[in-house]
Amino acid sequence: MDIKKRIEELKGLLVKYSYEYYNLDNPSVSDQEFDALLHELIKLEEDNPEFKTSDSPTMRVGGAILDKFTKVTHDVPMMSLSNAFNEQDLRSFDEKIIKAVGSVTYNVELKIDGLAGSIKYENGSLVLGATRGNGVVGEDITNNVKTINTIPLKIDYLEDFEVRGEIFMSKKSFKKANYERERLGKELFKNPRNCAAGSVRQLNSKVAASRNLDMFIYSVISPSNHDLNSHTDALNYAKDLGFKINPLSKVCKNIDQVIEYILEYTEKRNNLLYEIDGIVVKVNDMNQYSKIGYTAKSPKWAIAFKFPAEEVITKINSITFQVGRTGQITPVANLNPVIVQGSTVSRATLHNEDYFVDKDIRENDYVVIKKAGDIIPEVVRVVVDRREENSVRFEMIKNCPVCKSELSRKPGESGHYCANPECDAKKTEGLIHFASRKAMNIEGLGIRIVEQFYNDGFLNSIKDIYLLKDRREELIVKEGFGVKSIDKLLENIEISKNKNMDKLMFGLGIRHVGEKVSKVVATNFTNMFDMFKLDKDTLIDIDEVGEVIAISLVNYFRNEDNIKLINDLSDLGLNMEYRSNVVQKVEFSGKTFVLTGKLEIYKRDEAKALIESKGGKVSGSVSKKTDYVVAGTDAGSKLTKALSLGVKVLTEEEFKDLIDR
Ligand code: NAD
Repeated sequence: MDIKKRIEELKGLLVKYSYEYYNLDNPSVSDQEFDALLHELIKLEEDNPEFKTSDSPTMRVGGAILDKFTKVTHDVPMMSLSNAFNEQDLRSFDEKIIKAVGSVTYNVELKIDGLAGSIKYENGSLVLGATRGNGVVGEDITNNVKTINTIPLKIDYLEDFEVRGEIFMSKKSFKKANYERERLGKELFKNPRNCAAGSVRQLNSKVAASRNLDMFIYSVISPSNHDLNSHTDALNYAKDLGFKINPLSKVCKNIDQVIEYILEYTEKRNNLLYEIDGIVVKVNDMNQYSKIGYTAKSPKWAIAFKFPAEEVITKINSITFQVGRTGQITPVANLNPVIVQGSTVSRATLHNEDYFVDKDIRENDYVVIKKAGDIIPEVVRVVVDRREENSVRFEMIKNCPVCKSELSRKPGESGHYCANPECDAKKTEGLIHFASRKAMNIEGLGIRIVEQFYNDGFLNSIKDIYLLKDRREELIVKEGFGVKSIDKLLENIEISKNKNMDKLMFGLGIRHVGEKVSKVVATNFTNMFDMFKLDKDTLIDIDEVGEVIAISLVNYFRNEDNIKLINDLSDLGLNMEYRSNVVQKVEFSGKTFVLTGKLEIYKRDEAKALIESKGGKVSGSVSKKTDYVVAGTDAGSKLTKALSLGVKVLTEEEFKDLIDR
């Protein structure tokens, strides 16, 4: 990728979207899409500082100023806030603060979804209301601000005084305003924020008055002029002067308490009378601000945690097809990157033809994305009213995108398959799967190496993996390799020969036979050679094995090529037996665990294997039946659910203690 070109492209898009959002109050992309692009630009500029310019959207606040307003230069710039999208972001913010000032307490408050406003008083009278504008220069909206009932026109304090806060609209007033617009046949506002911004940024103050705007104050400017030392003091002082302060803010002693507050309001946000899009975390002691400092765009002593949006809207740029190891063809939507539940998503599976036909998903459509089971991004539905006029239905391909052979779809099945056993994509995918962590776990034999060895003629089938040792001399002279890396790889291949039967069976890539089924079958039959004799009915008797799986297993183990492969692998020294290694442990036996968030001590599969080896079960979702939830960092909705159901939550450390006990 040409980095400089991508940076320019991102800058262009962000400027365009900011203009639509701030100046037209009519965004064309979702906030999550905007945030993903901004996030990408921040990362690229951090890694390539030589391409960072002073006009970058990462260095600038907001949008331009509308000419119809008198311009106002702010005495103190109105900055933005940097964002946190997950627990890890919050913890690294905390670490930096502690490094700068030692001990700290935080003030947490709701991030009201409106627009920032500055209100100035002289001799106790309101003299100016202004928007943030580009942070340095804003727009004079005094007349409109005066229509907001909760902003006092006079205060009992004669010093020059400036407060800042969020001008917003309650959910109820928003509904009413849109109802009115619908009645007049006008275009509806997209959300309360756009409606509030549109209402204060127009010249007729009667319109602003009719919209029932409101304002929460969240800061006092130049606090030392008013003998204010902490953020809490400033809020209380403003409250005493008659300003509306959000009552739900709280002082937290440490970042754990901040995270608890965030979890609490992630649950409660829908019950509020106004919209919030996150939680703002601020250092409470304002005397520490100068030591912590500022970036060009935002203070370093505050951060805005953005709520993970469960469903977000983005655009499908194209739909492409992937060939899997069984030859199954999977349509994939390539998306405008978007942040979903704390991470950037740029692709989503469309599963099969029925899926995109039923939902009528097309290229260039705007779609709603969510993460199924909190992990896999999925297209929920099309936003039909944003569809292009000349859009055409998307159709399934007829030929394999790699080997071009004709695809087939069996009656009763939803997937299309490439039947060509020599299809390069199928073969490489099969090899990648065989060596993967959940199957034979051959470290060093990842996607890139498999593809390279396949293209260079070292690997064509699974058996070839175990014959690589005979080609050591050729391998060690290959560019990019060496004696050390090849010997390590060959050693890992040898070690894999000892893997249990279920891992081998899963690695063979039998259609419909996943990790769990392989394990169940292996525990029942304990020897791979027994599989040759099994019939469908015997297999169906096993729990978890249905007719489709049973037929697939019988077909696989009756096929001569497969029988030969298994005999060859056995001759090469691979283990063909199932060895049980479950040592029941009372804390685990019969207990159901759910793993969530990023684990740092264990790899997720490793934690799962440990639980199972001690007689426990691992489930993907939290319910009343769950015994333990092990919560790593960035734990999201599963943790929230566990807390609400009263399920015992273990940190990874506590889980380790339980394992080691
Ligand atoms: P921001 O909204 O992330 O944070 C700063 C703002 O938070 C402040 O200016 C203030 O108005 C507000 N705020 C609310 N409650 C607050 C509190 N208690 N304390 C302090 N501030 C509080 O930053 P931003 O620069 O205003 O805007 C960026 C946001 O706007 C992003 O989330 C982005 O998604 C969105 N945006 C969207 C588009 C789009 O096209 N969809 C375009 C531009 C920006």
